[in-house]
Amino acid sequence: MNKRKFLFVLGTRPEVIKVAPVVFAARETGLIETEILHTGQHLELAAEMFRHFRLRPDFDLAVMQPDQTLFQLTSRITEGIGEIVSRNDYDMIFVQGDTSSAFIGALCGFYRKIPVGHIEAGLRTLDRYSPFPEEMNRRLVSPLASLHFAPTQRAGNMLAGEGIPGNLIEVTGNTVIDALFWSLQQDYPVRDDIKEFLDLPGRMLLVTTHRRENFGEPHRQVFSALLELVERFSDTRILFPIHPNPNVRREAAAMLNNHPRIHLTSPLDYQSFIRAMQKSYLILSDSGGVQEEAPSLNKPVLVLRESTERPEGLDTGALKLVGTDKARIIEAASDLLTSKANYEAMANAQNPYGDGQSGQKIVAAALAYLSSQSKNHR
Ligand code: UDP
Repeated sequence: MNKRKFLFVLGTRPEVIKVAPVVFAARETGLIETEILHTGQHLELAAEMFRHFRLRPDFDLAVMQPDQTLFQLTSRITEGIGEIVSRNDYDMIFVQGDTSSAFIGALCGFYRKIPVGHIEAGLRTLDRYSPFPEEMNRRLVSPLASLHFAPTQRAGNMLAGEGIPGNLIEVTGNTVIDALFWSLQQDYPVRDDIKEFLDLPGRMLLVTTHRRENFGEPHRQVFSALLELVERFSDTRILFPIHPNPNVRREAAAMLNNHPRIHLTSPLDYQSFIRAMQKSYLILSDSGGVQEEAPSLNKPVLVLRESTERPEGLDTGALKLVGTDKARIIEAASDLLTSKANYEAMANAQNPYGDGQSGQKIVAAALAYLSSQSKNHR
């Protein structure tokens, strides 16, 4: 039997993390030839993730230019992916999540009439501008995709509510949990510059923030809250791996550089970041992936966003939405730093995002879909 040929389109750090388990599962079947197209939306961050998962892109578009507008980015990605899907025959194209690469990858698949599988489908904030442009990117993939891999039942219901037929929705769990479990089994070393900081006595708060809608005043509010928290709680320290986006870096360095108990560092490799999550007491983050991973490591997350497309973690109590208002952040963090009971309730809440088998479920559903299609066409 001829092997199926799958193309995986990705461009950012979280996409590499969340697509890797599907590539592994596809290769394990022995029935599928895989190719990876890297658009280069997060050049350095994604490169680090490719190393971590020992994957190599087959195509590298390197679309990023300094100060590029969304219009320019969209046009470069479209031309790049379009060219590759036009000169290759794929049985299915996989896109993940909510990036411009995902949206345009789906559009290019549609233009070539190749079925598109959407990994992590059905998440919605229902606020078209938040997160921007990700909420709209993710929504736009839905009518273009042929198969929808929903990480949770709620995401599946959302898609069904939008008119996607039930037989094209597969609830699979989130592949980030597969990636996390895989990574926990590797024995990569922790990066030297944070080793000592991780082992200091006291409680560590881990911070990440990078969302576009938090640039400027929201970030200043968050950083000001962090300064007050380390002052208020003398046994705490903060580890903050700063996203390379210059908007985040400039502001964080200006406000947080000089505190002896705040350690600013460049983005961590995945292994070091996981270890930092494990060693932390509490996480403050606007990251989507971190909201999904932390409950599996029993770490509470204060979500630095006004809305989230991941409400399952709010429902189980593993996450708390605190936005970017200084007073609200201080109040919520202080509560978890003083009330053992409230802390334990969050830390021990159930992880609603999957069991680590999502990659296999996605590949099985994709193969079943393709064989049902070829039967229909006989
Ligand atoms: N992460 C990492 N190093 C860091 C910060 C985050 O490896 O210094 C990982 C984190 O574990 C998560 C992913 O990167 O899996 C999240 O990426 P990001 O916050 O950029 O994107 P989002 O998940 O918000 O789309």
